[in-house]
Amino acid sequence: MAVLVTGGAGYIGSHMVWALLDAGEDVVVIDRLSTGFQWAVAPEARFYQGDVADAPLLARIFAENSIDAVIHFAGSIVVPDSMSDPLGYYENNTVKTRSLIASTIAAGVPHFVFSSTAAVYGTPDSLQPVLETALLRPESPYGSSKLMSEIMLRDAASAHDFRYTALRYFNVAGADPRGRTGQSSAGATHLIKVACATALGRRQEMSIYGTDYPTPDGTCIRDYIHVTDLAAAHLKALERMRAGGGSLTANCGYGRGFSVRDVLDAVKTVHGSAFAIRVEGRRAGDPASIVADATLARTELGWVPKHDDLGGIIRSALDWEAHLMRKNSY
Ligand code: UDP
Repeated sequence: MAVLVTGGAGYIGSHMVWALLDAGEDVVVIDRLSTGFQWAVAPEARFYQGDVADAPLLARIFAENSIDAVIHFAGSIVVPDSMSDPLGYYENNTVKTRSLIASTIAAGVPHFVFSSTAAVYGTPDSLQPVLETALLRPESPYGSSKLMSEIMLRDAASAHDFRYTALRYFNVAGADPRGRTGQSSAGATHLIKVACATALGRRQEMSIYGTDYPTPDGTCIRDYIHVTDLAAAHLKALERMRAGGGSLTANCGYGRGFSVRDVLDAVKTVHGSAFAIRVEGRRAGDPASIVADATLARTELGWVPKHDDLGGIIRSALDWEAHLMRKNSY
């Protein structure tokens, strides 16, 4: 059987394609290449360029390949963009996911893994690691768009022969340790990517958005997880559903938080020299602090992270950024 990866030309999706191939799976990719790159798709995967909401194309993909699972990465991921373009986010993340779920169920494909996010929680009531049972109070249309998709999956799974695993990603960073893929989008806004680009001189300076949060150093705290460990959690989810496991929603993070300043200090240490950092006001939609309790992923999925090391995450991100510079890719 084959696995269909949506957004397989993007950052996390391209790592997933390699992880599936490494595990001996047959892989089909759909990506419309709005932010991804065809060169990022492993050549062994069958590639279809198109939109996940193109129902006739999806029907053709399911007819042409023996697919038993969909792993759905395609979507928009930038919190501040979702604040300025909420309806675009609901269209791209929620409406298109509804169409993809419908196409998947219509084709009789029983398994679905969904890229959800810690943004569904908003700011938790305490600084303790957050459990899946915590209140869901997204603070951005991005978080809401993903939560709405989780709700659709839940309801579709109770009405049809269809099971899903929603993985709530915390802050994904780093690159394939074998250097095959990494975060490549030119306009990337995520902290570790921006810091690495600045350290390497691709950007002249970067900003810290807010130093007045109720955290020990005043900057926001996040749980940074290596993309390779995240891909491994998806493989475990697939394995579990194929063995008959029911629908599940699980956090993916390491359970420890780093502030923006911690991350920037670590980038300086790993890179070996300082770079220009400005302090700016808060960015809209940012929760102060969020860290995962990933006990469920460990116990239910049997997920054992292997790259829980901020320095190692940063090293791999710096190596990928240097590779992009050598390729002169943007
Ligand atoms: N951040 C920052 N400068 C940047 C990018 C991000 O200070 O250039 C902060 C951002 O305000 C947030 C944290 O880093 O507090 C993580 O942001 P990111 O965009 O990486 O991920 P998010 O948590 O929004 O998904």
